[in-house]
Amino acid sequence: MAKAWYPVVDYSACTECGSCIAKCPHGVYDTRKAPTPVVLNPLECVDHCHGCGNRCPVGAITYVGDDTGWTPPNGNTKVEEEAPAACGCGCGGECGDAADKKVVVEYLYLDLHTCDRCVGTDHELDEVMMVLTPALELAGFEVKYNKIEMATAEIANQFQFLSSPTIRVNGVDIGGPVQENNCGCCGEISGTDVDCRVFEHEGQTYEVPPKEMLAEAILRAVFSESEGGCACGDYKLPENLKTFYQGKSQKSCSCGGNCC
Ligand code: SF4
Ligand code: SF4
Repeated sequence: MAKAWYPVVDYSACTECGSCIAKCPHGVYDTRKAPTPVVLNPLECVDHCHGCGNRCPVGAITYVGDDTGWTPPNGNTKVEEEAPAACGCGCGGECGDAADKKVVVEYLYLDLHTCDRCVGTDHELDEVMMVLTPALELAGFEVKYNKIEMATAEIANQFQFLSSPTIRVNGVDIGGPVQENNCGCCGEISGTDVDCRVFEHEGQTYEVPPKEMLAEAILRAVFSESEGGCACGDYKLPENLKTFYQGKSQKSCSCGGNCC
């Protein structure tokens, strides 16, 4: 089991051929989402395996933690250090710095099967990225769009995850200060009371951020100086998420909670 080695898909390049999902025998990808490659179990990825990356016909897969010098054999994707190794928020220590004309959009979520707000945000963000990506590329930006499930407390710690769902642009959280309300879906997953994120936009509160808000916030993050919100710095897994992970693990464990 790898601690900091797992595939990252560049959705702007991915053609959804499904080869990576078919290639991996370790359940890293969510087969229920096939042919869209969604990394479900990053901790199951085998350290230094490049199996799916070697199979990808368009070079859309790179690896967090890859220091081997490997480059995708197909396509033009370069291996870049967008891994959270430097500061844990995915910015590589350059939060909000768009000077190199690279835009890394990360969608961090708890669940894409049961949680209405995670699924809803996923759909809205997909649609926004479908429009913004070609426009940003036309303006000379290299755009990467990654989705990462915060499947365990370990992954949440690694990404300095504060609340679900979270959208980051070059490591900067575009959702503003974290505000939450009770989330029945995640409560169902974990069997505990869990709060998830809500978003403020033009005086209204949304559990699923509207496209206008996402587009505006992403463009603001790309074209303005860093305005804070970076996940760098002191981090502690919020109690709310601790409760969620503990509940989820007890619910899924056949011991009924006695061994966890
Ligand atoms: S690198 Fe190997 S183990 Fe990891 S997801 Fe790809 S095929 Fe599976
Ligand atoms: S192999 Fe490459 S193009 Fe095919 S689904 Fe996976 S990431 Fe996308």
